[in-house]
Amino acid sequence: MKTILVAGGAGYIGSHMVALLAEKGYDVVVVDNLATGHRQAVKGAQLRVGDLRDADFLEQVFTEFSVDGVINFAAFSLVGESVADPLKYYDNNIAGAVGILTAMKNHGVNKIVFSSTAATYGEPEKQPIEESDRTDPINPYGASKLAIEGLLRWCEGAYGIHYAALRYFNAAGADPTVGIGEDHHPETHLIPIVLQCALGKRDHVGIFGDDYPTPDGTCLRDYIHVRDLAEAHLLALEYLDKGGQSGPFNLGCGDGYSVKELIDTARAVTGKPIPAVVEPRRAGDPPALIASSQKAQEVLGWKPRRDLRQIVADAWDWHSSHPEGYGD
Ligand code: UDP
Repeated sequence: MKTILVAGGAGYIGSHMVALLAEKGYDVVVVDNLATGHRQAVKGAQLRVGDLRDADFLEQVFTEFSVDGVINFAAFSLVGESVADPLKYYDNNIAGAVGILTAMKNHGVNKIVFSSTAATYGEPEKQPIEESDRTDPINPYGASKLAIEGLLRWCEGAYGIHYAALRYFNAAGADPTVGIGEDHHPETHLIPIVLQCALGKRDHVGIFGDDYPTPDGTCLRDYIHVRDLAEAHLLALEYLDKGGQSGPFNLGCGDGYSVKELIDTARAVTGKPIPAVVEPRRAGDPPALIASSQKAQEVLGWKPRRDLRQIVADAWDWHSSHPEGYGD
């Protein structure tokens, strides 16, 4: 494998993937429509701007580059927005996946690592969650990703395209060595919001519910460093290249941290007070989402190496040095 196509490589997780691939000596081509991505986030790769639903555009890219493998991050990923506008999610996420798989089929590219999500599980029956547990999404975002996992299975049978569907838990952190990080508009995720409070850009963070059946009443999440996630994708691609069996893999640390614990960690890392106010629950939030990543550890040889403090410290490094994000 020499040339890797990263769809959605200008986005938050995709740009960290691109930086890792470039560091490891791969030739990387990014395709991104820049709907939510940032041109400046693409480091060490060629960028072709266009949409995965545009067959002519993809045909041009697959003709220009001799692609050996694909990693697909291109998707909309806001749970609340997906509930308000499911057609937007089904169109962009599913039609985009159909587009890239069609180009792969036409050009004989037979490996894809797909960005899936813990939202495929819905409200899990037990913690930590294993890949064999029931998948029953409670929002269109998770449903769109699960539908694509189904499509991948069919495409493997029909066209011999092998896949790894990586179900992320809570991606967070940044890569301070490359100068890239998280920059969403609007921002809805807990860690960036907490750090915006530390920077004085917000006067408080709302804690969405403190009456959940958890030790301190706030939701438990499994935060995973974006660089650890990128490393898992590379291992998954190499695994497929060696003939590994297709399927889903959870990616998390296996530890659940509450919203209050997260805010306390951010106070310790930043030395700022970070005022917090309890607010009503947010619709669609399961009380706990904690991964068993045993399969990824055993089958891919992956191990997350960065703990919550490191995640928050690296995110703080990015936010404090880029208070306006990429500024675009
Ligand atoms: N959360 C919160 N206040 C915020 C943003 C998020 O209390 O301003 C909570 C949210 O309810 C969830 C956790 O923080 O329990 C993580 O939310 P995030 O949106 O970062 O990720 P998600 O788990 O929804 O993918």
